[in-house]
Amino acid sequence: MFKPTLQDGHNRRVSYVRISVTDRCNLRCRYCSSPAFNSHFREEILSYEEIERLVRVLVTLGIDKVRLTGGEPLTRRHLDTLIRRLILIEGINDISLTTNGVALADQVESLRAAGLKRINISLDTLKPERFAEITGRDCFDQVRAGIEAAFKAGFSPVKLNVVVMRGVNDDELVEFARLTLKLPLHVRFIEYMPIGSSSSWSGGQVVTGAEILQRIAEGLGRLETVTTTPGSPARLYRLAAARGRIGVIAAMSEHFCASCNRIRVTADGRLRPCLLSDDEFDIKSLLRRGAGPEEIADLVRRAVAGKSAAHGLTCNAERKCARQMATIGG
Ligand code: SAM
Repeated sequence: MFKPTLQDGHNRRVSYVRISVTDRCNLRCRYCSSPAFNSHFREEILSYEEIERLVRVLVTLGIDKVRLTGGEPLTRRHLDTLIRRLILIEGINDISLTTNGVALADQVESLRAAGLKRINISLDTLKPERFAEITGRDCFDQVRAGIEAAFKAGFSPVKLNVVVMRGVNDDELVEFARLTLKLPLHVRFIEYMPIGSSSSWSGGQVVTGAEILQRIAEGLGRLETVTTTPGSPARLYRLAAARGRIGVIAAMSEHFCASCNRIRVTADGRLRPCLLSDDEFDIKSLLRRGAGPEEIADLVRRAVAGKSAAHGLTCNAERKCARQMATIGG
């Protein structure tokens, strides 16, 4: 069958959309949202019907993968019903979720039953007290229960996302990597990015992918390279005899923009061709004034055509993208 393709101005094929279903979050991670952040009113956020209509158009353009994120997606009620609706769309092959895991234990079975295929859980520390310091909430045990529940529900692998910040949690690299020896976990270390105008990011806090790998190898021995799925931002490695994998997402020091295959939709309905650029396109207004599929598709094509070749940020960057991560969807 003829498969449509959505191509940007740099010959990259876009096949993946990350949709923020809410900008609310049940954590207050210091590096992610400012204490003064006010989430949008309910009516400003795309409804499930609007998300479904949009995805139906995106599929006709060649998008076949959807990730739901936020804010914290599990704070939005009945997320399983959205998954059920999206999975029924012909052409959607994969629905995944990024969550902080706090509310996961209660919902994981219904999410799996609805058709969720893959799950990433964010966890920056293995120490309960430090967790409370970083996130502003004392919920470590709930996240641990969420991770256990994800395994029990049959997700394999379960992926853990760890944002590495010098002086905050970089002393835990080896402990995180050690988890992969016994468990089919993918522990993915993410370089700290300058997102959100109020973020206290500084280049000195970025621990590069190269340093992360070196410190893990010093602690646990040689890392073997593992082949990665095309388009994945993570470079993957394995410790000898490990059941799991170690991933490095070096968005700052070795950006992977040349293979970028994704676009984002913010909780308030803006299409964002690049996470780290503030260019946005107002898709919500089109959806709300009843625009037809062709008009919506035109806007998506225009947005994708102008996708920048690379984000241009470095560890010495001054420029930060203005939006908070919670509203974009990481
Ligand atoms: N609430 C969900 C969660 O915690 O996974 C989904 C949204 S959260 C914004 C998505 C991911 O973005 C999390 O893994 C978070 O740690 C990451 N993140 C937030 N701010 C970041 C930053 N400045 N640099 C790198 N990753 C960041």
